Amino acid sequence: MVAFLRGCRKHCAVCNQGHLFTRWFTFKQRCPQCDLRFERIEGHWTGDLGINTIVSFGTLLIALIVGFLLSWPDPPGITLFIVAISIAGFVPLVFFPFSKTIWLAIDLIFRPLEPGEVARGYGPQRGESAERPVT
Ligand SMILES: [Zn+2]
Repeated sequence: MVAFLRGCRKHCAVCNQGHLFTRWFTFKQRCPQCDLRFERIEGHWTGDLGINTIVSFGTLLIALIVGFLLSWPDPPGITLFIVAISIAGFVPLVFFPFSKTIWLAIDLIFRPLEPGEVARGYGPQRGESAERPVT
């Protein structure tokens, strides 16, 4: 849950580092603090595309339902059309970086860090046992 909340804030899900984007649409290759490679496997970014699509269509659906309910029985077709087009064009662009970091968090929740995937102190390292030996 902590990782997901970090993703919602456009922060690294592992170390909570911000400033992961050089521009709105340009994601850094690695986290500047924990050194996590953001594209963990090939095809990694199809998930954020799915999240962005779900949020965009969800926003569009809610806006249309609210618009119809508030203006019933005489909904303004042109106004609702303009609102729908605006949402369809605007929300995916605004939500783009959030979809990246949220997807990264979800991926880390379902596929935890492999040894050596992050810098020492942020996760398991190669050659180290996940469990401490009993003494
Ligand atoms: Zn990090």
